[in-house]
Amino acid sequence: MVTHKKVIIIGGGISGVKAALDLYNGGVEDTLILEARSRLGGRLLSIDSTNKTNQEDIKYDLGASWFHDSLNNPLFDKAIEKGNVKYYFDDGRSIFFSAHNNNIEHWKYEVVMDEILAFITLTYERNPYKPDVSLKEICDEYISKHKSHLTEDQIKYGLGVVRMWAELWHGESWDKLSAKYSFDGSSHLGRNVFVKNGYKTVFNNELNDLPESYRINNIKLNTQVNSINYTNKKQIILKTNDNTIYTCDYLIVTIPQSLLIINDPKDEQYINWQPVLPTHITDILPSIHYGSLGKIIFEFDTIFWPDNVDRFYAITDNIPDNHGSNYKSWDFPTIFINYAAMAKTATLVALIQAPLSSYIENLDSSIKNQRIWNLFQPLIQSISIISNIPAPTKIYHTPWNSEKYSRGAYATTKVGTINPEKIINAFTQGIDNRIKFAGAETVDGSANGCAHGGWFSGQREAKFILQQIALEQLQSKL
Ligand SMILES: Cc1cc2nc3c(=O)[nH]c(=O)nc-3n(C[C@H](O)[C@H](O)[C@H](O)COP(=O)(O)OP(=O)(O)OC[C@H]3O[C@@H](n4cnc5c(N)ncnc54)[C@H](O)[C@@H]3O)c2cc1C
Repeated sequence: MVTHKKVIIIGGGISGVKAALDLYNGGVEDTLILEARSRLGGRLLSIDSTNKTNQEDIKYDLGASWFHDSLNNPLFDKAIEKGNVKYYFDDGRSIFFSAHNNNIEHWKYEVVMDEILAFITLTYERNPYKPDVSLKEICDEYISKHKSHLTEDQIKYGLGVVRMWAELWHGESWDKLSAKYSFDGSSHLGRNVFVKNGYKTVFNNELNDLPESYRINNIKLNTQVNSINYTNKKQIILKTNDNTIYTCDYLIVTIPQSLLIINDPKDEQYINWQPVLPTHITDILPSIHYGSLGKIIFEFDTIFWPDNVDRFYAITDNIPDNHGSNYKSWDFPTIFINYAAMAKTATLVALIQAPLSSYIENLDSSIKNQRIWNLFQPLIQSISIISNIPAPTKIYHTPWNSEKYSRGAYATTKVGTINPEKIINAFTQGIDNRIKFAGAETVDGSANGCAHGGWFSGQREAKFILQQIALEQLQSKL
């Protein structure tokens, strides 16, 4: 038995669900979502809090936590309309601190950070042929040219803050990030809004707009597509891990690009494309790189840090020993999200980056929590209002590097990359007007890599296919 559908969507994350919803609302009900995992949502994943001090029934998000671009974010608009998402603008008071300074005044880093960003822009505007270097290298260039006009503190804290923003936006170390593109497109269209009761609620706001019968009959979980054959001009043939064959007229692929770059046929997530992907796509695949933003959630019995500060920013000028196991406290910049401020709950969430995030994922479970606490205790002690802080009652961390269906957090721009726009253009071009690519990494601007970017991509591809189908119907009438 072969199942045929007008449109098949690979992936049941926000991109895939939005595409299915728009196709449905546009009159194309004969669609199917094939999802490899045993759950929907992809990189949107909320877990329950076990914190006894939990005041507001909060959840923790291992994937997306914020509505970015809140002036241009349809997921945020829907959250307001439905009234079921608890959110918080966590852009109130913040504290920047380091190993030797518990409260770094903003004038010590702000102007230097702005000047470094201007320096990068001007450097590449004046000399577009200058080879891309790492963000760390261009910062060193700036300092060597301008150090006579800077104080020691400005150098230390200015660099520290640039490094922190870059690493904790991209999830990658600044000596690996592209100087040319790391801050490109990152200016947001509006404030950031933190979701307190789980992004799952946001995802379900989309999912539940599909009728129940669709959700029961047209979504298949535990179904990994491992072969896509588009040799036949009429039908695309898909094969899944349970050896089932599906055919369709149109295909929307929302698989993270970190999986599309796998070229080893022995890899479990390898996709056998027949014929092979066209050159406009294979040419850009070597430039795709996924960063590793991670989170560590620390639950405590009591709140022993200020509850009137939204975020704590830990700055460092340490150079970590990259050999794997010798990391020390203060080797990496860290952002702490304060649940005490937003929900009177004794929880801190640390945002972390590569290589620390994969190091933590791979620690042996028998020593993991102790090692994590040893690394972060001095940072949390620095923001504490008591002298001997208690150990956390529970620690959770994100799994994205070792998750086989994500292999990293989201796309980032490594040094030497091609212009990211070329990657986006290659995917939006699709193949033969019948295989289309959606996914958070296929949109440009500040939505790239974000949940609402995924939503926009699903909307874009559903619109394209609806137009193609309308054209088909018109041609058949003529
Ligand atoms: C730690 C972290 C923090 C983040 N923070 C934010 C934030 O604060 N705000 C924000 O807007 N965004 C954030 N993001 C990004 C956001 O989560 C993603 O951009 C968005 O969820 C991606 O949605 P998607 O549908 O494009 O991809 P995914 O959610 O990855 O969905 C793709 C789906 O395809 C499935 N799949 C893969 N291979 C196959 C196959 N062969 N066959 C069938 N199915 C397959 C996967 O299982 C997955 O469900 C964060 C991400 C991470 C990891």
